[in-house]
Amino acid sequence: MSAQAITVDEIERTLVSKSPWPQFPHRLEARYENDRAARRTRRMRASLLETAVVYNCFLVADFLLVRDMLAFSFALHFFLITPLILVAVALQDVRVRPIIRDGIVAIGTLGIGAQILAVFWLTSSPLAHHYQYLIMVLLVFVNTSQRLPFRLAAPASLLLGISYAVAIWTSGHLTSAELWFAICVTGGILYQALLSTYELERAIRRSYLMRLKTALVSQRHEAAAQRDPLTGLSNRRHLDVTLERLFTPERERPVAAILLDLDHFKRFNDHYGHVAGDTALKRVAACLATAVRGTDELAIRYGGEELMLLLPDTDAAEARALAERLRQGIEALAIAHDALGSGQIVTASFGVAVAPAGPMPAESLIAAADDALYAAKRAGRNCVWPHDAEPSARLLPLMPRLIRQGLGG
Ligand code: GH3
Ligand code: MG
Ligand code: MG
Repeated sequence: MSAQAITVDEIERTLVSKSPWPQFPHRLEARYENDRAARRTRRMRASLLETAVVYNCFLVADFLLVRDMLAFSFALHFFLITPLILVAVALQDVRVRPIIRDGIVAIGTLGIGAQILAVFWLTSSPLAHHYQYLIMVLLVFVNTSQRLPFRLAAPASLLLGISYAVAIWTSGHLTSAELWFAICVTGGILYQALLSTYELERAIRRSYLMRLKTALVSQRHEAAAQRDPLTGLSNRRHLDVTLERLFTPERERPVAAILLDLDHFKRFNDHYGHVAGDTALKRVAACLATAVRGTDELAIRYGGEELMLLLPDTDAAEARALAERLRQGIEALAIAHDALGSGQIVTASFGVAVAPAGPMPAESLIAAADDALYAAKRAGRNCVWPHDAEPSARLLPLMPRLIRQGLGG
């Protein structure tokens, strides 16, 4: 599948496209094949096994109509065609390109057609002209049960039709009137069968596009509902959902939280105005977003100008080091804060907390990060708290609520 995600626009363009050929543009076609691969494999396997059974039941026709060819027909059934069908069944589990997998099924069908026509052509039975009807059954079968894509069903059916016309023409089993009648009837069946394959495939593809569009639109709404519109970071709702997922009683990995609050931001707004404040906040948020690595990690606008990083699988030392890098990163933005004096810049204070593995309420982690942030503010701002060399040893004493709730102290 293409690494780039399919867009709703792409689907809409395809839906209104006037192209009569039942095939999507490349990336969408790959997604379509991928989405239906498992179901199609199951269906195709069942249909091929059914083909093997039904096809061999038709030996009755050989017995009744072309008994002189029974041994020949029997050999083709059991030593060529049935093994071919079984190979096609086995190949359904192998990861090959869909066109190859479907192509093998089409070739198997042509093999059945070749067997019918060979017996019809070679027999000297006076009932031979009835045997030709098997081709009509096969034409309907290819276009209904097997559900081959139109791009394969069409050439396979046409080839069958042409081979049939040649075989009955040259066999000498039919009178001229019978010959033309058979060609007209088979031609009519061929046309109707192909038309229904074409219409059905277009309908299936259209309904797939509608379903995919609905799914993508609802995914987009869901993602938007979890975003903060100003900064593009996750919002509190996304944080709550993630905390609920991470903080199960059997949690086996530590989770770190880094909470930051811009220093003297009220004075920044008062001095430069709210719009400039928004711009500064967005730049800091973008800096925070660069720290997010795995899919489980979140950069959140916790509220106002308080932002947070939630980091599963992160210990205290790692979290503190990251907070320090972020603190320096915000300094490096060098956003002027003249309200604090000439040459002053926007800075942030950081509180770091870690919930070790084990049962513990998520609120304890957030409360501990909040306490640490408060301590960072009291310690003079523009710093990470706790800020000594061995953070893991000193973290817990700085988290009174965490100790109380989580460790039962
Ligand atoms: P401290 O260093 O103690 O944090 O001082 P402070 O002025 O930053 O105090 P506090 O964190 O309580 O102030 C929050 C201010 O942040 C209030 C408001 O002016 C500003 N603020 C909050 N949300 C937004 C926002 O979305 N846009 C802008 N421009 N300003 C915001
Ligand atoms: Mg502040
Ligand atoms: Mg604040």
